[in-house]
Amino acid sequence: MTEILRRYSLSIALLVVLAAAWYSRAPATQELYEFAGTTMGTTYSVKIVELPTALPVEEFIQSIHVLLTRLDREQMSTYVPNSELSRLNTSPVNTELPLSREMAEVLRLAVEMSELTGGAFDVTVGPLVNRWGFGPEARSTARIPTQDEIQALLARVGYRNLQLQDATLIKTADVYLDLSGIAKGYAVDQLAEYFDSLEIASYFIEVGGELRIKGYKPGNESWVPAIEKPVDTVPQIHNIFYANGESIAVAGSGDYRNYFEEDGVHYSHEIDPVTGKPVTHNLAGVYVIDHSAARADALATAFMVMGADKGFELAQRMNLAAYFITKRAGSDGFDDRYTDRFTHYLQEQ
Ligand code: ADP
Ligand code: MG
Repeated sequence: MTEILRRYSLSIALLVVLAAAWYSRAPATQELYEFAGTTMGTTYSVKIVELPTALPVEEFIQSIHVLLTRLDREQMSTYVPNSELSRLNTSPVNTELPLSREMAEVLRLAVEMSELTGGAFDVTVGPLVNRWGFGPEARSTARIPTQDEIQALLARVGYRNLQLQDATLIKTADVYLDLSGIAKGYAVDQLAEYFDSLEIASYFIEVGGELRIKGYKPGNESWVPAIEKPVDTVPQIHNIFYANGESIAVAGSGDYRNYFEEDGVHYSHEIDPVTGKPVTHNLAGVYVIDHSAARADALATAFMVMGADKGFELAQRMNLAAYFITKRAGSDGFDDRYTDRFTHYLQEQ
């Protein structure tokens, strides 16, 4: 029996620096300011071309820290026992539970994404995420749940058990919410909103691989995000694309960094809310470009669950810019497929 467990989350963001160095046409004429740290069990990094004028730099850095700490430890973490999310998860069913503005917004978007993806994205899949060993609890010694166990946990899954009013939630079943598939994207959006309010014209914001990009890099060059090769070794660039000065959000999802293997079977952290099991198809990674990082984050996760064919079909139907990487059968190779809308980003304008 072999087991490989990889739990480092890093993708497009760090590679961007590399890509920028390799593909830039001219040497940068200005410096970039970069601020980095950890949040949500992963890393974050922001890069700006000019410092905001409205406040001293120390205050700016502190505000970023405060914003992320609030979203992570106070609100959306299942790893912190008294976070808002943990309290929602242990609150009784069929009672009105008050929500913070941010939680109400994320839950509303999560339910919208569930409806849009036919339930492939579902934040109530938490009990199964935990049982398969991808949540805050220690992995069970009986690694693979029995069908009876899965069935019992599935009874608690279903976004339709979430009744959202303006600022309250009623759980109509004993659901357990896991926001790992959307919270990082939401954090990126919140940072972008804050940066916009400070009139920062050019930025690159990244939390755990989910991005928001605006404006240009020094030297008036496009930010060049890189698509990571879906392998669990050192990060490698698979392809690159260009923001071309547009404000875009980019999120990626993959089954190659967060998984375990048992008896030669690969168990991914993406759980199909219908079967209650990790997905097993040949889709290795998906990247989505959208105006909102939270949406892109949720959609990338949903496409990983739906698989290459159904996922691609939906992305195309939504006129979304999406890039799919599938494992080639019987070899180490990959095949790429992207929607019509993505073509726009593959060329520097
Ligand atoms: P990453 O964390 O690598 O960016 P994703 O954005 O795809 O990856 O989020 C995957 C996480 O979302 C899983 O680790 C799990 O906590 C949660 N999750 C798994 N399956 C689903 C699903 N079907 N719907 C919503 N969230 C899910
Ligand atoms: Mg996601």
